Amino acid sequence: MAYCPYSNFAVGSTLLTEQDSRIYTGCNIENSAMSPAICAERTAVSKAVCDGYRKFKVVVVVAEQQQEFTAPCGVCRQTLNEFRSSSGDMDVYLSRPAMDLVLCTKLSHILPLSFKLHNNAFCN
Ligand SMILES: [Zn+2]
Repeated sequence: MAYCPYSNFAVGSTLLTEQDSRIYTGCNIENSAMSPAICAERTAVSKAVCDGYRKFKVVVVVAEQQQEFTAPCGVCRQTLNEFRSSSGDMDVYLSRPAMDLVLCTKLSHILPLSFKLHNNAFCN
């Protein structure tokens, strides 16, 4: 369902919620102005958060690349980090359209030293 007339690079993403084990899907949605574009992962997060879900156990990313896996971009990694599961992490599965191979990793491995706003950040 990707809308990618400029890049022709279709990406799909799926999230598994911690509560209720619900599945949310997303696709990349491009825009002629470029910056309003949104990645598949953040589309799925937006849909799930709008329905009240805040913790995700798994994210899956599949892109139209035959030779390589496509990992979430930096903005998506930080967005996913905001909604990690109660375990403090999230499983990340990357695959190609043929689904012949799946790279399994953790969000903490692809986003070390993530940005976190601490409560005392404003108390100097
Ligand atoms: Zn992204």
